[in-house]
Amino acid sequence: MKTELKHYKVDEICKGFVYNELEGKGLFGLSGRLTIQPEYQRNYIYAESKRDVAVIESLLKGYPLGLIYFNKVSEDNLEVLDGQQRITSFGRFVTGKFAVKDENGLEQYFSGLAQDKQELILNSDLLVYECEGAESEIKEWFKTINISGVPLKDQELLNAVYSGPFVTLGKEEFSNSKNANIQKWSAYVSGAVDRQEYWERALEWVSRGKENIARYMSAHRNEKSIAEVKTYFNSVIDWVSGVFLDVFKEMRGLEWGRLYEEYHSKAYDPKKLSARVHELYDDPYIHNQRGIWEFVLSGETHPNLLNVRVFDEPLKRQAYNAQTKAAQLAGISNCPLCAVGHAANDDKIWKLAEMEADHVSAWSKGGATSADNCQMLCKTHNRAKGNN
Ligand SMILES: [Zn+2]
Repeated sequence: MKTELKHYKVDEICKGFVYNELEGKGLFGLSGRLTIQPEYQRNYIYAESKRDVAVIESLLKGYPLGLIYFNKVSEDNLEVLDGQQRITSFGRFVTGKFAVKDENGLEQYFSGLAQDKQELILNSDLLVYECEGAESEIKEWFKTINISGVPLKDQELLNAVYSGPFVTLGKEEFSNSKNANIQKWSAYVSGAVDRQEYWERALEWVSRGKENIARYMSAHRNEKSIAEVKTYFNSVIDWVSGVFLDVFKEMRGLEWGRLYEEYHSKAYDPKKLSARVHELYDDPYIHNQRGIWEFVLSGETHPNLLNVRVFDEPLKRQAYNAQTKAAQLAGISNCPLCAVGHAANDDKIWKLAEMEADHVSAWSKGGATSADNCQMLCKTHNRAKGNN
């Protein structure tokens, strides 16, 4: 791979600048020779965070914008590997798409700036590395360059590395905020559509785990269909929305792909399940509400998913004192299970530190975490009892 360091002026890059408002993409510059947004690049996101304004302020102060990378695709054509956000920012400013505040706090578009300031921006020097080489080489290198500005998400990198018709179609479906399905999906999928996080979930689900995404993309890279991804994604969403009648905010971003794999072949009564979810959701003893859905899907066999609140220290001490006093009077062990046993411990008085709190009536069977449902057991008996 060949790289060459070059200088460009903002003015040159902005010649023939085209911005697609609908797609949120800077498209061309350098009088048409430069493709600003190759298909594997993320959409323009600087505008959302006002970083576009910061780019212009840097230029007005004479600060460098940092290294920019171009890929030389042919003798006369270049595309931006890194720097697309910065280029789109000044391109949009120079073409009057947004304003910045001047020293008097007034919003100014480019055309409203003093002549010398306009020239300062247009004459700003940009340092550009132009590289030339096999696609795979460049993509590998692009993956490893330290990207300034907003760091790329994993999936944005994967899109770059495995760019092609498959990625293009995937982005059209899953990274397109104009897709009417996004609203429905967002009940179950978290993250930002334009940062490729829905596309990432779709790939993660169909490939059965995030660690398999790269292999899956590599295998399907040149396909002109994403039917398998779509079908699988919709199966998962249809299953969740069918099994659980109500949507809670805690359902967003759960591992629905994995849950679908594990539980979709089981039969559930959505009405019953729904009622149970509401009950658990209102249970003050449950600390991890996000565990509720897997808990009910798995037949309520793993209470640890819920992180049920345990008895606090004063409550334990209170139970310990009462139990120990009664046991001493009766001449039996203060562990009720030791007391009824035939072993050497049937009259043993355990220290508080040697005992653990137990739900008399198990939490999983409706027992509350309250004083009248607390008993202290010796550690051996408490652990043998389990499921508290
Ligand atoms: Zn015991």
